[in-house]
Amino acid sequence: MKILIDNGHGIETPGKRSPDGRFREYKYNREIASAIVQHLCLRGYDAELLVPEEQDISLKERVRRANQKTCRFGHPVTDTFLVSIHVNAAGKGDRWYNATGWCAYTYYGHSESDRLASSLYNAAEKHLPGHRLRTDFSDGDPDYEAPFYLLKHTYCAAVLTENGFMDSEVSLSFLESDEGKKAIVALHVEGIIDYIKG
Ligand SMILES: [Zn+2]
Repeated sequence: MKILIDNGHGIETPGKRSPDGRFREYKYNREIASAIVQHLCLRGYDAELLVPEEQDISLKERVRRANQKTCRFGHPVTDTFLVSIHVNAAGKGDRWYNATGWCAYTYYGHSESDRLASSLYNAAEKHLPGHRLRTDFSDGDPDYEAPFYLLKHTYCAAVLTENGFMDSEVSLSFLESDEGKKAIVALHVEGIIDYIKG
């Protein structure tokens, strides 16, 4: 199994920061994604960053990289999957909100991605006690479904996680704490390993 970890956005991406500017999503996503890769590699798993650069690599290029790694002899392979790390926003970054909660997205329909997302939700429940998990059980599983480019165009199982809100003081104080960072890394590492073990 090859595990691809994506970190949303880049240093030049407009917006994507807290209203006071102290929190930058591209930077946080990279810190969390790198720690997830490190932990998985230490535990013997084949994990790598899809975007080692600081720049915002286009979604098209991200998909090209992922699909290049998931195709052999022109055919898609099923031994690779992708998790994309993000932080949510309730507004446009101009003011603070009170939003909280963790959630994950997959593309429409039932697929291997849903199994991966459910595994991440189970791990989130364990590692984020007392925190809200945002769920959508309308199709029988906890994740939200959306036509995000990276989820729609990758051949492999793919899940995008939104790890709290960058324009919420209460959410941000947890995200920026050592405890919060450890919990978010741990939930991804455990959710991914549980998914692989089936
Ligand atoms: Zn994002």
